[in-house]
Amino acid sequence: MIDKNSRTILSVQGLHARINGTEILKGIDLTVKSGEIHAIMGLNGSGKSTFAKVLAGHSAYEITGGSVQFEDNNLLELPPEERARAGLFLAFQYPIEIPGVANTQFLRLAYNTVQTKRGKEELDPLEFDDFVREKMKLLEMNPDFLDRSVNEGFSGGEKKRNEILQMALLEPTLSILDETDSGLDIDALKTVANGVNQIANKDNATILVTHYQRLLDYIVPDFVHVMQAGRIVMTGGKELALELETRGYDWVNANKSVTGVIA
Ligand code: ADP
Ligand code: MG
Repeated sequence: MIDKNSRTILSVQGLHARINGTEILKGIDLTVKSGEIHAIMGLNGSGKSTFAKVLAGHSAYEITGGSVQFEDNNLLELPPEERARAGLFLAFQYPIEIPGVANTQFLRLAYNTVQTKRGKEELDPLEFDDFVREKMKLLEMNPDFLDRSVNEGFSGGEKKRNEILQMALLEPTLSILDETDSGLDIDALKTVANGVNQIANKDNATILVTHYQRLLDYIVPDFVHVMQAGRIVMTGGKELALELETRGYDWVNANKSVTGVIA
């Protein structure tokens, strides 16, 4: 899906961040253009989730260097809710539960907030119901989801499907999915992948954070990056994911470039 008319959506330069005084991100550089799907892979503890959370504006992290440009915004200056309104979406590794709040209310509130920001009409509950059911059909999701409390008692697979639904409704410019494949059975994995593939188009971009190659059988990335100790140490095309699967991460150590990046 790479096209000549693509524009830069995200530009991360030399990003450093720490938590509780420990530096976790140690100089991340990443450029994401419209129409692209990027996978970020790496061993547990390499800083993948930290990177995703820093982009989303998680308050526990202190930015100690670098810059992040997201479309026309200096992302690091925006509070988290402004980041979401500006078109950034983060699907968490462990989605929160909100007992007592029906999913449909939650989704409509989130949707209308973004619509207002974009200068578009809000939808009333009936209009929203039609709209959300249409999206659910597209994603092959069960409408029972709408009446249940947000994520309460959802299985891992259901939480993930619900996040994909949020993503489909909000139409983000950049979606970041953190370990969306962990704990999913093959049907849920396919639903999630199908949703991501339906949503991805030439005007938006996706970053998939994943430990395993499995998800990448269903969502084909344009770029694969390997993260290690808070840096991207290797970048390649979709074949890099397969190479990692067969050769393991030790192979990365032997082959990463001195500057940390091979293209
Ligand atoms: P990944 O998602 O790649 O598995 P994480 O971003 O979750 O990695 O974690 C990166 C590193 O940050 C790990 O070494 C982890 O121990 C450390 N870390 C995460 N949270 C905290 C915290 N609250 N305090 C100190 N270190 C943390
Ligand atoms: Mg993680």
